[in-house]
Amino acid sequence: MIFLDNAGTTKMFEDCVEVHKVFSCQEFYNPSAMSRLSMEVSKKLSEAEKFFLAKLGAKEGNVLFTGCATESNNMAIKGSFRNGDWEYVFSAGEHPSVYNVAKKMELDGVHVHFVPLNKKGRVDLEVLKSVLNEKTRFISVMHVSNETGAVNDIVEISKLKDSLCPRAILHVDGVQGFMKIPFSIRKTSVDLYSFSAHKIHGPKGVAGLYVKNKNALKELFQGGGQQYGLRSGTENVSGIMQFKKAVELIDVDKNFENVALLKKIFNERLEVCEGVEILDFCGSPYIESLIFSGVKGETMLHALEQNGVVVGLGSACSSKKAGNRVLEEIGVAKDNVVSSVRVSFNAYQTVEEVRMAADIIVKTYKDIKERVS
Ligand code: PLP
Repeated sequence: MIFLDNAGTTKMFEDCVEVHKVFSCQEFYNPSAMSRLSMEVSKKLSEAEKFFLAKLGAKEGNVLFTGCATESNNMAIKGSFRNGDWEYVFSAGEHPSVYNVAKKMELDGVHVHFVPLNKKGRVDLEVLKSVLNEKTRFISVMHVSNETGAVNDIVEISKLKDSLCPRAILHVDGVQGFMKIPFSIRKTSVDLYSFSAHKIHGPKGVAGLYVKNKNALKELFQGGGQQYGLRSGTENVSGIMQFKKAVELIDVDKNFENVALLKKIFNERLEVCEGVEILDFCGSPYIESLIFSGVKGETMLHALEQNGVVVGLGSACSSKKAGNRVLEEIGVAKDNVVSSVRVSFNAYQTVEEVRMAADIIVKTYKDIKERVS
């Protein structure tokens, strides 16, 4: 089986299993307890926090460890919310874990702006500029689109924030960018940045939220006061240490180059097939969409799985709903949207694997077309 749904989740590095054993069966102590053994674990968590800050390129701030990036995103938005005459700004291309929170806020009567995407799948900077003002409290723009791979210019967005609404909080959902796209928070005005372990060969059930100024965030629930009082509950020590191990094993630049090559080879095989269109937004090499003229994406997905290739239908969390909000937002024709599938690579796949996958995709499509014509 060739797995091309790596934006949905990735296979965990086997080295993480060893780390899990150590922190579940040997150093299993509660980091908040008073024993020397617990304090040792607590020290390792502090070191892990510093490690993640360095990997993000942050020169200040903290990292909160959460259960998933959905939680990180909810914490960023709801923890920054304040009553008053404020405006909240979201890109229209956000993942449901941001978009649906924004929609709910709007329903609750909060002043929310959704900034459209341009034809390249990026947030429209002219429109963004036009909505930012001194009442803007919060801006959320994702780093890399989970649907299209389009990359938003976070440095440019930071400059807009600094000049038009310096008091606003800038949140970036970095789930598809962290450890995949060369990036440093230091060069930006990002206040909050979400990232997740299971997208980068770490375990499920652990993620992070970078917080530049912890005093600007409110906790979502009360409890024992762990993690600066912002995320009560005993930390998932094993998950955090496995996440750290996964990050240690990744070479962002080398992986980026490798995936770019895989995508090029894959696309060369597909672009010669009549009826197949590659939606390339010239963004992250890890993600792209394919349109199969005259065949539903869902039909392709199931036929491909039978033939040994697993692809996705957009965001795993929302793919059971018809259509694709983000592709429609970019202006992809409705017929093409229903005929689309998402392909996403990982850096450890081989040229042979992606060549074989492309050949299977072409054959599967041709067989279906022949059957229906
Ligand atoms: N944000 C983006 C851009 C994503 O792609 C995903 C997962 O698909 C999430 C957030 C949610 O991540 P998690 O599964 O860790 O909740």
